[in-house]
Amino acid sequence: MDEMFQTRIDTVAAKLNQASVDPELKLGASDALREVRADQRDVLTQDGREAFVLRYLQREAERFRADDETLDALDADEQRTKPLCTCSDSGCALKDGRLPVLVENAETLEQGLRQFRRRHRGNPVVLDDAEHALDDKVGRVMQVYDHIMISLSNGIPIDEVRALRSDDADAEGDEQAAAPDPEAAAPPAE
Ligand SMILES: [Zn+2]
Repeated sequence: MDEMFQTRIDTVAAKLNQASVDPELKLGASDALREVRADQRDVLTQDGREAFVLRYLQREAERFRADDETLDALDADEQRTKPLCTCSDSGCALKDGRLPVLVENAETLEQGLRQFRRRHRGNPVVLDDAEHALDDKVGRVMQVYDHIMISLSNGIPIDEVRALRSDDADAEGDEQAAAPDPEAAAPPAE
């Protein structure tokens, strides 16, 4: 995952340094980069991803335990009704809103999650939810970079690139489809 980001970051940085690229487009690109910076920190590094998953587990455990009064304090709309984990272990870290020790001590988050899933006797529902939320965030950040690359490579303002994408989605129900390709140097979309 890190390499996919690095390629995009490098490509965008190179474009921003090219004198031939329209300054207006560069300004649009740096605004878009600024918007996505906080999310990018969450997904770009091991530590960021681990912290994101931990925050997610904590919050969902709090939502699961919450009643009408404490829900307000959580700034959440509703209680979590889905189980956190279906195991019978009362000491399960997930039920307590913690990262399992196996995950904490693993070399990478992905490795730790795989090992934990293999060994844990139960369906770690909240972990699946956390991973989906992380994937969504990765997808959103990647998309911003793709839009910037298309904008800078094709000389189209980023707002128009974004509009192009949503037109495609409306017309074909497939947002991967018809926008102009970023440079050949860019990695293929997953
Ligand atoms: Zn469990």
